[in-house]
Parts: sequence; structure tokens; C-alpha cells
Amino acid sequence: MANELLKRLGLTNDPRVVMDFTGNETPETSGIVLSMNPATGKPIAGVRLDDAKAYEDTTARAAAAFKEWRKIPAPKRGELVRRIGNAYRDVLEDLGSLVALEMGKIKAEGIGEVQETIDIADFAVGQSRQLTGITMPSERPLHTMKEQWLPLGPMGIITAFNFPNAVWGWNAMLGAIAGDTMVWKPSLIAPLTAIATNTIAQRIASEMGYEDIFQLVIGTDEVVGESMIADKRYPLISATGSCGMGRHVGSVVAGRLGKCLLELGGNNAVIIEPDANLDLALKSTVFGSVGTCGQRCTSTRRMIIHESIADDFVAKLVKAYETVRLGDPLATGTLVGPLINEQSVSAFESAIATAKKQGATVLTGGVRAKMVGELAGGHFVVPAVVRAPASNELPVAMDETFAPILYVFTYSTLEEAIEMQNSVVQGLSSAIFAGSSNAAHRFLDPSGAGSDCGLAYVNLGTSGAEIGGAFGGEKDTGGGRESGSDSWKAYMRRQTCATNFGDEFALAQGIRFE
Ligand code: NAD
Repeated sequence: MANELLKRLGLTNDPRVVMDFTGNETPETSGIVLSMNPATGKPIAGVRLDDAKAYEDTTARAAAAFKEWRKIPAPKRGELVRRIGNAYRDVLEDLGSLVALEMGKIKAEGIGEVQETIDIADFAVGQSRQLTGITMPSERPLHTMKEQWLPLGPMGIITAFNFPNAVWGWNAMLGAIAGDTMVWKPSLIAPLTAIATNTIAQRIASEMGYEDIFQLVIGTDEVVGESMIADKRYPLISATGSCGMGRHVGSVVAGRLGKCLLELGGNNAVIIEPDANLDLALKSTVFGSVGTCGQRCTSTRRMIIHESIADDFVAKLVKAYETVRLGDPLATGTLVGPLINEQSVSAFESAIATAKKQGATVLTGGVRAKMVGELAGGHFVVPAVVRAPASNELPVAMDETFAPILYVFTYSTLEEAIEMQNSVVQGLSSAIFAGSSNAAHRFLDPSGAGSDCGLAYVNLGTSGAEIGGAFGGEKDTGGGRESGSDSWKAYMRRQTCATNFGDEFALAQGIRFE
């Protein structure tokens, strides 16, 4: 079945894809990385890695293509993106299934991820006619002033394993209408999705006569990643991944005075007030914490619940957790698939052990799941609900463990709850469930005294986002914004232009120079 899927997506004919692998290949010994199925622990295919020379050639081509692509009027660039979005529509189910096969999220979420790329393509098409600057009055007579937005250059896109299609889509669709060329360095954990995704975009661009707009360079962090972030030919590096990766990438890019768009880890909390719609809060919290097996940057990792309702709510939550079906991500009815690999299972187990040592109680899950048949080799765990000690002191919950662990804390006043929600170093997503509009407004307080995250939701969970809004987080989440609103500006450079249409020599600030 997997091979049929790869064939339909053109992967079996791709020169980078190795179908007759032995299973012993490693990047060091054979220059091949194996793409593994996390549900079985078995390889799907091998992928040949690019070396330093391939990186150099790709970058040179992207730089040359940029000089031509920027001359194409933005609405025409939008036409290319429109066709790409339609091409993804044609393969929505297959590409979504490949995401599920390679990353382990359930098929509905895999398809949803590709839909996100289609949605941002649609958004970008409209945006291609609205790359608007502003005009402002000049203080000098017979002068005009305006701002315009110009293409930036080739862009390096570094993506995380957990959104192997959409993170590139958010960047590349807006980058393309902005007039940039794209070089994508995907995670080596999900290279097949990257090849399938990029090949479609590159084919449509070539059919329209534009070569080298979308390129892919699949290589190790040492050979390709480090070269890319240090390379001055990329005025912008967009990097999505862990906070540690972002700290390093950010400092290297800043060292050469380049621009960085960082989308890093989250440690997202939901606050539940006593007058909330608890049914809604329950469903949203379960989806937010177990969905994608806790491997979304926006997954709900902490629940901060009012002490008066905590015991009842937690009992219902545990019951709901115990009905969640683990299984093959591609099978109908599965709600939760596996973790990505054994390191993630170990990180999950070690966080649970640390939480216990720190005085927490595991209410459900927290162990490796026993699966049968083919799935016995997969990286399945039972999602955990962990209650913090009454003191609310639980240092392990201050870090992001990229796995399905929900830590439960209690509070007595809303101020205390908001302080707890803001007490972690990350600042990506946050949510409150409340019946009173005062509580909701305090959470969204325009003075900044409410949630300190980039995303703040009322009566919906932390997980997921619509493409229309700017997506990203504060503090150690990196401060980047992608997707909707005015995020397109990150992919362009701003120019302030002044024109003197008179004959007088006039200086600003009234300076006379005669
Ligand atoms: P990771 O940090 O291990 O890797 C992310 C990417 O960075 C990979 O492509 C990796 O190869 C690359 N990378 C690592 N070191 C590099 C270097 N020295 N130079 C260049 N590239 C380098 O992250 P991951 O495990 O793939 O993804 C999970 C993490 O990503 C989580 O922390 C999650 O919260 C975060 N994430 C954030 C967002 C967001 O939008 N904020 C979205 C998805 C994932």
C-alpha cells in the first residue's frame, strides 16, 4: 500500500528516492537517510542526501533565478501560486496520506495539513494584488513621500518534522508572491513529504517558464543546515523547530546581520473558569493535548483549572482519555497515532518519571502502549494526564516535552491563573474557557496584562490556527509571524521613497545650507 502511494505521487521514479534499500543505510556510511514509518518502526524508502557541492549549486541557481523572478509583476506571481494550490487540490488525499505515513499524524490531520497549504495559496493569490505601501505627507513643499515593498532575495526555509508540508507552504506561498526564490531544507525525519510537495510546485513553475523558484536541498545539519544559515546570499532564514535550534540559528544569522523568522517551541496552557461551558472545555482540551500525539507546537501541555471544579472535571477528562483509540494513523477510527521515534518515547518516559519524582501523580497513561501485529514495532505511548502537587511546583512542566502529557494545575483567582499561564519561557498559544466576558477580556487585556502569548483564544483550545491570522509566538518561541494578516511583509524589504517635483533645494528639519 505504501509503495502504491509513493508511486502515485511520483516518488518511486524520483532519482533521490531509493526503493531497494537494505535498511542498514545511514547518512554517514552511505549518504542515504531512511524515511521511517513511526507506526511500524520500518523504513518506507531511502533518500539520497545532498552534499556541499549540491548545496552550493542549488544556492547559486536560487540567487540567479531571483534576479528574473523579481521582475515578474506580483499578480502574475500570484497566478503561479494559484496553479500550485490547485495542483495540491488534485492530490489532497494522497499527499495527506503520505504526511500520515511518514509523520504518524492521523490521516484526517494529514489531509488537514495539506489543506492548510492550499488555504495559504488562496490567501497568497489575493495578497499578490495587495502588496501595498503607504504614502505620507512630506514636510517639504513640492515633495512626496511613500513606502514601497520590494522582493527580498532567495530565502532559506528550515522546517520541523511535525508539519512536513504546511510549514513550507506558509513560507513558500507568501515568499513566491513577494518575488523571492525558495530553498527548502526539510527535516531529515520527513524527506519524502518534502520531495513530493516541492516537486509539484517546481513542476508547475517550470511549466510556466520559471525555473528554480522552488528548490529543495536535503542534507545534514552539519553540511547543509550550517552552510545555509551562515550564507549571506540568504537575506532571510525562516526556521521552524525547537527553541534550542532557534537560539543557534538566530545567533548565526544575526552574526551576519541577516533576517530571521523563528517559529519555535511552545508550552501552551488552557485556563478553565468555574462558569465555563465545561463540555466544550473538555472536548477542546482532549483534542488539544492528545491530537497529533501531542506533537503540535500548539498542543495543550498545561491545564490550569479553578480549584472548585478541578476534581470533577479531571475525572471526566481521565474517562475521555481512556476512550481515545490509538492505532494505525491511516486506519479509519484511529484518533491518535505514534510518536515520531524512540528518542521521543524516551523523552516521554523520562518526563513522566521526573514528574513523579517532583511529587506529581499520573492519573492515566504515561507508559508505552502495547500494540499488536505490524504496529508492535511502532512508537506508541498512552497519553498521560499528570496532576501537579498541591503546591503547583512542578519544574518538569516548565519545559516542552514533545509528547502527549497534560499537566494539571489548580488556582483560586484569575490573576493567579494568568500568572501561571505566563510563567514559562515560551509564548506561543494560550486559551481560556470562561462564561463571563470580564474574564475573557482580562485574558485579552489590551494593556498586555493578560496572556503573553502570540495566540490567545477564548472558548477554543490552544491547538491549531486559521491561516487568516498571523501565526507565531513571543519570548523563546522566537517572535516570528507567518501565514495571514501582514505576515507577507517578512518576505519583502521596505523602501522609503521621497521625490522632489519642484526646483528648490530643500532640506528636512528646516536646515539651511547656502
Ligand atoms: P528540531 O529543532 O530538531 O529541527 C527543526 C529543523 O531544524 C530541522 O529541519 C533540523 O534539521 C533543523 N536544524 C537543526 N539544527 C540545525 C542547524 N544547526 N542548522 C540548520 N538547521 C538545523 O525540531 P523538530 O524536532 O523537527 O520539531 C519539533 C519542534 O518544532 C518543537 O519544539 C515544536 O514546538 C517546534 N515547532 C514549532 C512550530 C511553530 O510554528 N512555532 C511549528 C512546528 C514545530
